[in-house]
Order: sequence, then structure tokens, then C-alpha cells
Amino acid sequence: MLGLMQSQGLMISSILTHAARHHGAAEVVSRTHENTTHRYTWAGVERRSRRLVKVLLAHGVERQDRVGTLAWNGYRHLEVYYASSGMEAIVHTINPRLHPDDIAYIINHAADKILFVDLSFAPLISLIAARIADTVKTVVMLTDTANMPEVTLAPGMTLACYEQLMDAADEDYVWPRFDENTAASLCYTSGTTGRPKGVLYSHRSTWLHAYAVSMPDVLDIRATSRILPVVPMFHVNAWGTPYATALAGAALILPGRHLDGASMAGLLNAERVTFTSGVPTVWLGLLQHLRSSGQRLETVTRIMTGGSAAPPLLIEAFRDEYGIRFEQGWGMTELSPVGTFNAPKPAQAGLTRDEAARHMLKQGRILPGLDMKIVDGDGRELPWDGVAFGDLKVRGPWVASAYFGEEPGAALDKDGWFATGDVATIDPDGFMEITDRSKDVIKSGGEWISSITLENLAVSHPDVMEAAVIAAAHPKWDERPLLLVVPLPGHTVDPASVLALLEGKVAKWWLPDEVVVVDELPHTATGKLLKTSLRTRYKDHYLKA
Ligand code: AMP
Repeated sequence: MLGLMQSQGLMISSILTHAARHHGAAEVVSRTHENTTHRYTWAGVERRSRRLVKVLLAHGVERQDRVGTLAWNGYRHLEVYYASSGMEAIVHTINPRLHPDDIAYIINHAADKILFVDLSFAPLISLIAARIADTVKTVVMLTDTANMPEVTLAPGMTLACYEQLMDAADEDYVWPRFDENTAASLCYTSGTTGRPKGVLYSHRSTWLHAYAVSMPDVLDIRATSRILPVVPMFHVNAWGTPYATALAGAALILPGRHLDGASMAGLLNAERVTFTSGVPTVWLGLLQHLRSSGQRLETVTRIMTGGSAAPPLLIEAFRDEYGIRFEQGWGMTELSPVGTFNAPKPAQAGLTRDEAARHMLKQGRILPGLDMKIVDGDGRELPWDGVAFGDLKVRGPWVASAYFGEEPGAALDKDGWFATGDVATIDPDGFMEITDRSKDVIKSGGEWISSITLENLAVSHPDVMEAAVIAAAHPKWDERPLLLVVPLPGHTVDPASVLALLEGKVAKWWLPDEVVVVDELPHTATGKLLKTSLRTRYKDHYLKA
């Protein structure tokens, strides 16, 4: 028999109405394009989102139509999030750092009817307008009339000004209720190989993910928290913070386009931010600024990182020099995105400082609601001993079942697991540690070598800023590791000293055959090392030698 409880669907609009009703005065603060500060409240977000629905309806947006955004983290972007999903349309966040060809491709693939665009991306729209003219009818610039830019659109497309449209609309709208499994938002993977693929989140998956990331052992979001997501709203919903902050009634601080160390430090202090999240590159910039300026962070107690492996330098420097916990989570677009978070269990209380820092390199424990396992090449489950590494698979209610345009279940194996493409170990306490992307793992003489382990060690060298280990073809061993390092500004790197540092810390046969010093390393649109391009350039390095 079924339980006798109400089955009220989990609507994204009710996250917002909860915030407006119970935390109406809680702040939403944005750094604008002009570098001024805009302040209002969750009650204001709810009112303006209703007004925006009226704008969308007036532009012919219907249920399940896609509403594209090309925008930084800011209050107008937040309104597009809530208005689109709330009226049963789909907000499609587009990563402006992708190549313009990919951007045009995904706008057409998603069939975005209308685009909301920040001023920074006006030139990008002019560049791709002709290629998206069959799909996009209206481009709305996220600004007021005084700041409208020049944009060259193709015939048949209309340019509009956000605040002008908002002024002309009213707020007379009641949020509808519908099936919680309805699509709410769409985000494309960065696609380092092949075309980007769309992940289509539902109202239900978004709610459950927001609940899970709010938990104390994850982001620990409270009504008293002041949260600044540096992680962009244009990719993977800023790790769910626009929803989780509203659920808790926390203050949300949106940093806009100025993400350099000095701007970040200024904003974090000015807005009394307690917790902030972003990829490691941002925190490297912040750390360099703090060290060179002597500035301190006055209110931040925790920094969350994810998206790529947390460099040991950041964990130790923030802890030892600034008294800030630098915590790591792991996830991916297909997981809404958060899958694991590294929060200690009682057993970690006894670790020495060095052991604790080493433990923080792990990507962490699975969020409740999801499940994970590691399997070998034949699909056999591997032990949780912290040593065996294999392909990481996950399942759960905020994991994609198929990509946009595919049949449900198309992305899963026969038992319903999603293959993440990551290679990992899991220790007896359930802490998962990524050792590689499956396509980046180095297969030397039939055995696997973890590129991330070698990179983590290499960046602990005092002269090294960044490191990448790739598989280079080898006549005898099939593949051997090649280590590329970028020196810290003003330093030179002695390759032999890097190898000396690795010696004894990994098996001898893991040691790279060569260390090459380079000026910089290529990155993807989401800040990850672009190993495909390094492999193209260096794959024959040992054959030429
Ligand atoms: P994306 O879908 O762009 O968010 O990329 C997801 C991928 O980023 C994952 O499959 C991992 O390979 C990588 N990733 C995310 N978080 C971490 C982390 N904390 N450590 C190492 N790799 C990570």
C-alpha cells in the first residue's frame, strides 16, 4: 500500500516563494558590469521574477521552451533562472568561454527561442548572430536603457533592453504547479572530445540536489551564512548555490565579471562573506594577491573547491597562513553537479596536520541519495581499500539518465549506473579519490599510472606553479608519463630537482621519463587542464628522443 502523505510536487518556484516568505529581508548582492554594487532581497527576487515571467509570456515563450543565458553571476541572471523554470519553461545556461562555434551549435541544438545576454558578451552575439538567426528570435541585453550596447543582429532578430521590458510589465502572476519531473534547466558539458552534450535537470532533481548540498557535511548553508559563488551560474548552476541559498534564506553575493584576486578579496571582506566556492585557478589568484598585498580575509571561514583536483599548496596555505578551511568536492555536469564532498568523519580527528592535509586531497564521501562504485575493465566491482583504482560509476536521483535529445536511460549501463569517465580509489571509510580521467590514465607495460598523483607531487615543488602529466607513446612500454611544469612567476625550475622530489614517493616505474619546463599550459572553458591538446603536441615526444 502507498503511504498516506501529501504528494506535493517539488517546484523550483516554491524554493523562491519560501525564501521570499520566510527570509524576505535576506540580501542578494551583486557586483555589476560597471563595478557598482546592487542590493535587494529574496522578496525582491521573487517579485521581479514574476514580472519577468510576464515579459517572457509577452515574447511568446511557452511551456518547455528554452530560454538561453550568456551571463555572469548577477541578480538579473538569477531572475532569469527562477522566472524561466517557475513558468515551466527551461533556463539554458550557456558557457561563454566555449568556442563561438560550439556556442552557436548548442544554441541551435537547444533551440533557444530567446537569449538573455550580459554586456560583456555583446561582441560575441554580433559574431554568431547570423548562425543562430533561425533559432533565436529575441536577444535581451541584461542592462538598462542608459547602458545599451551596439549589437549587430541578423534580419528577423529583435534586440531588447531588460530593464525597459521589466518596466513595461507587471507582477500579476501566480506560480503554477505541475509534475515535479518536468524539465527545469539545461546545461551542456564542455565537451573536450566531440560536441558538447546537454544535461536536462528537472524540478525534482534540482530540489533534491539543493537539499543535499545544504547539509552540514557539505556546504553547511544556514540563514546566517553569507555565500559567494565564484563558480559560474553559466555552468552547472553554480553548484546549486542559487537554489540552496534560497532554501536556507542565506545571503547570496554574486561577483559579476571581476574575478581577479584583488577584486575577490575586496568583495569577500566588504560583504562579510562566510563561505565561497570556485575552481582552484580562482583560489590561486586570490592566494597570490593575499600574499603579495598582506591583505587578510576577515570573515571567510571556509572555501570550497572543485572542478579539478585541489592543489596541496592551497589546502595548506589557506589553513596555515589564513586559518581558513579549504575543502574539496567532486562532481560533474551530469550530476547537477555535486557528487562527493570531503568532510571529516570522527576517525580523521586523530590525524596529524600533514596527514590531515593529505586526506584533504581526496574528493570525499558520496552525498546521501547517491551511490557509487569502482569497477575494473571487465565491469567487476573493486574493493574499497584506498589502493585499487578503477572506473567510477554513480547513480541517484540527480544523476543524468540520458543527454538532451536522447531516450531516457540512454546514458546508463544495464544496471542503471552512469559511468563518470573518472578513475578513482575508494578507501574503507568511503572517501573517494580521483586518480585520473579514464582517457588520461597512463598505461605503461599493461599497468596504470595515475597522472593526478604525479601532478599533486610536482606542484609541491617550491618553484612549480602548475603541472600536467600526460601519456606519451613509448616503443617498449606502450606509454610512459611525461611531466610538463610551469614555473612560479620569477622562478626557474630545475627538472632534475622535480624528479628528485618524486623519488621515493611513488613506485619507481611511475617516475616520468622526462620533465619539460613550459611557459603555460592550455585550459578548457571550465578551467581544467586541456590534456587532449597536450597529447596532440607531445604524444611522440619519446619517439623523437
Ligand atoms: P564538468 O562536467 O565540466 O563539471 O567536469 C566534470 C569533471 O571534472 C569530472 O568528471 C572530473 O574529471 C573533474 N572534477 C570535478 N571535480 C573534481 C575534483 N574535485 N578533483 C578532480 N577532478 C574533478
